[in-house]
This record gives sequence, structure tokens and C-alpha cells, in this order.
Amino acid sequence: MNKKNESNTLTTAFGKAVDDDQNSLTAGERGPVIMQDVHLLEKLAHFERERVPERVVHAKGAGAGGYFEVTADVTKYTKAKFLSEVGKRTEVFARFSTVGGERGSADAARDPRGFAIKFYTEDGNYDMTGNNTPVFFIRDPLKFPDFIHTQKRNPATNCKDANMFWDFLSLTPESIHQVTILFSDRGTPATYRNMNGYSSHTYKWYNGNGDYYWVKYHFKTDQGIENLDRHQAEKMSGSDPDHATRDLYEAIENGHYPSWTLQMQIMTPEQAENYNFDIFDVTKVWPHEDCPPIEIGKLVLNRNPENYFAEVEQAAFSPGNLVPGITISQDKMLQARVFSYHDAHIHRLGTNYHLIPVNRAKNAPENSYQRDGFMRVDGNGGSGPNYWPNSFNGPEPDINAADPLYKVSGYAARTPYNHPNDDFVQAGNLYRNVMTEQDREHLVDNIVSHLSNALQRIQLRQTAIFYKADPDYGKRVAKGLGLDEDEVKKLAEMTAKERENATQQ
Ligand code: NDP
Repeated sequence: MNKKNESNTLTTAFGKAVDDDQNSLTAGERGPVIMQDVHLLEKLAHFERERVPERVVHAKGAGAGGYFEVTADVTKYTKAKFLSEVGKRTEVFARFSTVGGERGSADAARDPRGFAIKFYTEDGNYDMTGNNTPVFFIRDPLKFPDFIHTQKRNPATNCKDANMFWDFLSLTPESIHQVTILFSDRGTPATYRNMNGYSSHTYKWYNGNGDYYWVKYHFKTDQGIENLDRHQAEKMSGSDPDHATRDLYEAIENGHYPSWTLQMQIMTPEQAENYNFDIFDVTKVWPHEDCPPIEIGKLVLNRNPENYFAEVEQAAFSPGNLVPGITISQDKMLQARVFSYHDAHIHRLGTNYHLIPVNRAKNAPENSYQRDGFMRVDGNGGSGPNYWPNSFNGPEPDINAADPLYKVSGYAARTPYNHPNDDFVQAGNLYRNVMTEQDREHLVDNIVSHLSNALQRIQLRQTAIFYKADPDYGKRVAKGLGLDEDEVKKLAEMTAKERENATQQ
């Protein structure tokens, strides 16, 4: 820890020199503490307020600063200034995290890992809030709070609960793809440096001519994928719950700067229109064969935060932080995240959280009419006008910042994504075509060790879903759990509703 103060005299928060920081002020040598010890009162009162609310998801994390460098010309696809030139560098801050655990939980937990990057561009901050998995468990935001409840603690026992966990997933078959990735060894990455980051969602890039493209981001680790197996992860959780946090800090401290190569999948609107599934469904990937990723940049992390709370705990990312040239798609989950992230930060850090140095648009002027509120720590707009329109030279909207128009049609209705029966196809492809035999063995073992803690009727319902992805997958899980294979097969042949009815209490 370095001393940074110019003067070395200890002071109160308001700058008065402190005469003694070891002995409280008392009435007489052994008398009671007296209220005029303002230093003691200030110190205790601040201490009592040191914690800000922890994030309801992604509470445990580690972060670092660095840069992003463009390595290919993408001006055909986007007018984003930070992507405008090969060789151009933009300062970034990245935060990696687990999702379900509390701030003190183990880094080695089986969980997706958050992969969030803030680009401090000259057009304002751009946040890419991804995960280390290319898909997600659900595709409608109405399900999100319920899903997260099942990953947290049972309301009665306050313990993690395999019944809640698998009950929800087995009643939500669209989760099978993400469940298969989560229960492979990629669900327990060796470190934050040894995992990929994916946007998961489809975003829209647009150029200056009004053309737009659908895109997905893939940040591929240059350190190589490395995972812990179940036994290593369990041991690590007990012996060093902060192992990934420490690893990132030490690697950077020792000059081993982690980097990721950014590859993009890019689709034209015409390709998307005729595609064989809905490209806004976040439970699906775009197979590489249909849409080969192209390399466009490099992310390098080379600066440790000087203070964890200031930079990592207060870092606030939102998929709504966009720049001209990049916007969101109609993916329903993404649309809801645009609301939820900003809303969560206002709750956690206050309405002026954008003024906290790590969150400031440090390479672009902030010219808004937002004023006042708790912890307004800058000049609050000074004497300038605080309303629009005005005739006092206040900042003006710029029509060039508009997103390209897109057409919507249909009824206002609660309509599910509709592409019958393909929820199992990509999970099956992953199991059959991408995983090695050792990957499959570990996958089944990881599932069995967790699912065996749930009620048998829930085991049966979930194993039928594995069977639907691939009969071999289902049979091996059934064998590991000691379930009747024929019963699993029968359930797999039912509709989701029939399966639900057949496995109720
Ligand atoms: P490809 O064979 O072209 O690509 C397979 C991808 O799977 C590679 O990107 C590889 O990523 C990744 N991968 C390898 N092992 C695992 C694993 N154990 N768990 C998760 N991902 C793994 O196939 P397709 O593009 O046709 O996709 C087939 C399946 O691969 C998909 O259904 C999906 O489950 C998975 N996948 C696909 C991705 C995509 O964007 N198309 C992205 C990630 C996974 P890496 O280079 O990092 O090793």
C-alpha cells in the first residue's frame, strides 16, 4: 500500500488535524467517553455506512483497466468512432464476476461468469455487458427474477437448494443449452484470464449510410481456455475462495497482461429475415458455419485498480450505454436489461452514479440537463440553463445521433418466441459434435453430483430434457442417478405440459 498524501498529518474528513487516533476523549482518566470527541463520532458514523448495497446478481467480482485496439477495418459496418481506424486505441475498464453468490462467495463456484467492459470513447461510454457463455437460460425477462431466486437461497432454510434450482430449470426446457454449458467444465473456469467473453445477445451495428447489420461479440482468450474439474473447483472453493480475483491482480502486477481477441459474427438483415431460427433468441448461438467470426480487435488489461471499492465495487455497467454506430436489438432480455442495469445502479449508488470517476464519460463532454440529487459532486451545471428548449446557448440535440429506423408490426400481445422444438438442437450439437469424450464424462458427473440432491420426480423431469437433447446424454445421466431409463424415455416423448403433469407431487 502506497502513501499518496502530500502532507502526512492525519486529519478528519473535513481536514482538521487529529491529535491522537488511539485514545478516545474521556471525562477524567477512567471516565466515560464524551460527545465532544468529534473525531471518534465521525469515524464511527462513517464506518457504519461503509457498505453500499451489494449487487443482487454479479456481487463478487474483480476488475482491471486497459485498452482496446482495432485490428481490422469495420467502417463498412459501423460508424462508431472508437472502431473507425486500424490501430486506434480506446481506454477500457473491465469487470469479471460470478453471478449467484454473495460478495464473499467463492470464485470457483459453478456459475456463469460476468464479462463487462466499459469503453471510454470520444462519443461517450460504451458498455459491453456479456458473460463467458454465448447463450442464456431464459429468453423472456419476465422469468428473470424467478430464475435468480432459484439460484440463491431457500426462503426457509437460507441454504442453496437443489430442488429450487432443478425444479425451475426442468420446467423451463429452453434452458437446456445453457445448462449443458454450465455443467461442462466451462462452468468452473480456472481463472478469469482463461475464459472467453460473449455478448450473448444480438446487437445492431450501423454505418453512416443507413445500412445496418446484426452482430454478436466473441472475446476469445489469448491465454487459452482452462477449467477446473469438479473436484478441483470444490477444493479451490474451500482453500482459496478468492483465487480468480488474486490471479487477475497478480498477473497484471507481474506484467503478464491478459488479452482477448475480439471476433465478430455479422449478419445482414436479409440473412436474418430468412434464417432458420429467431436471431433475437438468446438461448441460441449462430453456428460458425453459417456466420464465420471475423477478427477485429484486441482487448488488453494492463492496469490494476489502486482502490478496489473506488473502481471495482462502484463500477456500474449498462447495456444501455451505447454510442452512435451501435445499438440494441429487439432481443426481449436485452430490452429489459437496458432498464434493469441503470435502475439497479441508481438504487445501489444513487442517482448521480455517473459522476463517480470510474463511471464518468471521461473522453466525452457530458452536456445534459440533469441536475441536483444526492451526491451531486461536480459543479451541477453551474449557472447554465437547466431546461430545454432554451435561448441561453444550452446544449442542443443532434439529429445525427438517431438510430436507424426500423419497422415493427403486429399486435400488442404476450407472444412467446416461436420456433417449434428447436430448443434441444444446439444443446445436442454441443454434446455430440463439440465435446470430447472426456468433456461428456465430466458433464454427466457434474450433473449427477448436483441433481442427485433434488427430489426424484424433479430428477426424472430434468433427465428427460437431457434425453431430448441427445438420447445418450439422457441415458448416461439416468444411469448416474439410478433412474429407470424407460421412464425417462417416456417422459422425453411427452409434451412439456404432459411431462409437467406427470411429475407433479
Ligand atoms: P463450431 O464447432 O464451429 O464451434 C464450436 C464452439 O464451441 C467453439 O467456438 C468453441 O469455443 C466452443 N466450445 C468448445 N468446447 C466447448 C464446451 N465444452 N462448451 C462450450 N463451448 C465449447 O460449432 P458451431 O458454431 O456449429 O456450434 C456448435 C455448438 O458449439 C453450439 O451449439 C454451441 O453450444 C457451441 N458454441 C458455439 C458458439 C458459436 O458462437 N457458434 C460459441 C460457443 C460455443 P472455443 O474456440 O472457445 O474453444
